Amino acid sequence: MQYVSTRGSAPALDFEGVTLAGLASDGGLYVPAEWPRFGADEIRAMRGLAYPDLAARVMAPFVAGSLSDEELLAICHKVYGDFGHAAVTPLVQLDQQHWLLELFHGPTLAFKDVALQLLGRLFETFLARADERLTIVGATSGDTGSAAIQAVAGLERVEIFMLHPRGRVSDVQRRQMTTVRAPNVHNLAIEGSFDDAQAHVKRMFTDRQVMGVLNLGAVNSINWARLMAQVVYYFASALQLGAPERTVAYSVPTGNFGDVFAGYVAAKMGLPIERLIVATNVNDILHRALSAGDYSAGGVTPTITPSMDIQVSSNFERLLFDAGGRDGAALAEQMRSFEASKAMQLTNAQAGGASALFASARADQVETARALQWAWRAAGQVLDPHTGVGLYAAQALAGTLPAGVPLVTLATAHPAKFPDAVERAIGLRPALPARVGDLFGRAESFAEIGGDYAAARDYVLGHAGQA
Ligand SMILES: *Cc1c(COP(=O)(O)O)cnc(C)c1O
Repeated sequence: MQYVSTRGSAPALDFEGVTLAGLASDGGLYVPAEWPRFGADEIRAMRGLAYPDLAARVMAPFVAGSLSDEELLAICHKVYGDFGHAAVTPLVQLDQQHWLLELFHGPTLAFKDVALQLLGRLFETFLARADERLTIVGATSGDTGSAAIQAVAGLERVEIFMLHPRGRVSDVQRRQMTTVRAPNVHNLAIEGSFDDAQAHVKRMFTDRQVMGVLNLGAVNSINWARLMAQVVYYFASALQLGAPERTVAYSVPTGNFGDVFAGYVAAKMGLPIERLIVATNVNDILHRALSAGDYSAGGVTPTITPSMDIQVSSNFERLLFDAGGRDGAALAEQMRSFEASKAMQLTNAQAGGASALFASARADQVETARALQWAWRAAGQVLDPHTGVGLYAAQALAGTLPAGVPLVTLATAHPAKFPDAVERAIGLRPALPARVGDLFGRAESFAEIGGDYAAARDYVLGHAGQA
């Protein structure tokens, strides 16, 4: 499989190339040159497969030329054999129409594990082939950092430096990073905000002193391999609910547009998806774009769903490219003007292509709390607030679906990751699952770094390559 950039001028790369590159050299994002398609018979033949086997079947066309079927299958068994639930992503029924797809059974209790655990193994495989090493530098406001650290801890060819704003991530999130004791894991508590930490990381990627000695890599959701891994659970859930004979709808708590774009990919591959509901909190740039064609960025309002507090959704560019007719030069121009003015109107083709499959809704904090209360009272389910945003949107738009279409809300985090917001909504404090239960008993390790860029850079340069 070859991959092309959404901005049209970076070279096409194979799967190994896009996995290691992350962002394309023209500033665009990589997408497959064409969508692989499964016929109804091929989808029917996936019924009953265990998750690792299904994952290998669904991802095979995307990795063709870079991994053999046997290599891919071995990686999938290694990665998904260790999740906290045998089904990996189990479905739970809420009522006649509503279902939850639990994506939080990985090591850090959020859906990001499903993709990052795979990405860690892919890095190790491809780096071994090239006899190279990779230094990952990232900034996190919570979920991505812990999932990335857990994904690469103990790997031989990868090391990770994760910057978090000191005192500004939750105790659970910090401990999920700082209690991981592996020689290739470095936690840096930075003086300042998440934006400061993020600015340091971006600057390292253009700093010759750093780039001259380290092979720097990133793990954010612009990496194609992460989206590919997320396509699998749309297949797993739709098959259980009757696909390919029956269509299924999804509501997806959305921030960077990665998880819901994976649903779009599943539909392109032939999975009968009736609708994808993009659920946002009050940071609703995507809801405005999809409902009114207005994609304009404002400031970020902090909410009880921090992983969805975004100004701009990087993966939305992939939809604009595909739905808008795959014109890289035109999109590069559109994105340049967006970067200058922080606003754009979707073209008719982009708006039309998006509205064929997507709908959207936004939930404020009162509405989110109400969804948590409903799930608790009506179905005995304790949800995390991100999932609550998704369920609110699902209930708001359920009446627009044809009768009999099951509506699946993606449960993106375990409620124990956000205990305060859950307790405020339903009066019950969720406990951490037993498998991470001694999180508060383990020793932490992190370096405290001043707020200036040089301090962060010197720490990375001083500690890289010693594992
Ligand atoms: C990252 C995250 C999201 C947003 O997912 P995107 O792929 O960025 O749209 C939603 N919920 C939780 C819990 C997350 O960690």
